[in-house]
Amino acid sequence: MFDQPIADFMNRRALSGEPGTPLSEVVQRMSESMQSAFVVCEAGVPVGLITERDVIVVLARIFEGVDHAGTCAGDVMTAPVHTLIESAPMGEVVRIMKERGFRRVPIVDDENRLAGILNITELQSATNAALEKRGRDLEDAVLARTTELQAANARLEELTRQDGLTGLLNRRAMTERIDELHAIARRHGHPYAVILLDIDHFKLYNDTQGHPAGDGVIRRVGNCFRDAIRTSDSVYRYGGEEFLILLPETEASGAALVTERIRSAIAARAIAHPASPTSAHVTVSLGYTDVATRETAEKISWQDVVQRADEALYRSKQAGRNRATRWIEGA
Ligand code: GH3
Ligand code: MG
Ligand code: MG
Repeated sequence: MFDQPIADFMNRRALSGEPGTPLSEVVQRMSESMQSAFVVCEAGVPVGLITERDVIVVLARIFEGVDHAGTCAGDVMTAPVHTLIESAPMGEVVRIMKERGFRRVPIVDDENRLAGILNITELQSATNAALEKRGRDLEDAVLARTTELQAANARLEELTRQDGLTGLLNRRAMTERIDELHAIARRHGHPYAVILLDIDHFKLYNDTQGHPAGDGVIRRVGNCFRDAIRTSDSVYRYGGEEFLILLPETEASGAALVTERIRSAIAARAIAHPASPTSAHVTVSLGYTDVATRETAEKISWQDVVQRADEALYRSKQAGRNRATRWIEGA
């Protein structure tokens, strides 16, 4: 705004007249137009200024009995008048008004003829508009930046296959691997098993110990798998406090052994869970199932397999938690 020319902001309907204009006419026109100043011009060139203050001085004299019937604009105007050219930047008006205490400045064209007037009120609304625009521009910029960052984060998350909290593989990596195992089962009849694990009464843990401590438990549980599984098996953080384990070349009986190893590994950590109705320590419930034959792999999708493990997990919860359940058709 301060770099923009005055012409963009000035009031182009400045009141003006020759020095010979009768004072009564000046006052009449100021009153009708609600303007606070009258620019006195000779052949269009500003030579003086009559403001509300000047009018009040005249009014005071009239009350004292001085006759002003024949007074003209030229008799009462303040002269000479300071003008600014319309192509000058707004910053110039601001500086002049501040330095000299002006409440208005007549604006002239490049031939020094009156082009308009800039009042302090116009200056105020121009400043307010500029500030509002700046605020909006800033908001827009912040919004654009936030959207960019969110998109970049989403892309990064897409690219990375790791879970930030536990360092284990994430759900995206899981879907890739199980898709592959299911395809192998379909094509070559190689079996695989799925274990789903959920920490018991974890909401109670968060509620009593706090969310950061809860994060610590998720991390510690995530660390228990390493010794319980084979190197060809893989563990994924499936959801908040849920983990999924994929066991290639494994049937349900093999998965059963792994679930017990996992349960005892977590029990051995003895992570205190004072609020748990199940145990003094953090326990987990598990559900597992397998795709033992090519026929099964052809009949169902890997999503169905995960669903079966989830149903078995639900049964573990219902049966009292801290246990593993195998999925059985119709159970
Ligand atoms: P249940 O024994 O039936 O599994 O009970 P629950 O309380 O564990 O089950 P529920 O699904 O009701 O609650 C899971 C809780 O896990 C709720 C949620 O606040 C918490 N949670 C999920 N993700 C995170 C996480 O990343 N960090 C922490 N601290 N808590 C999490
Ligand atoms: Mg859960
Ligand atoms: Mg839970």
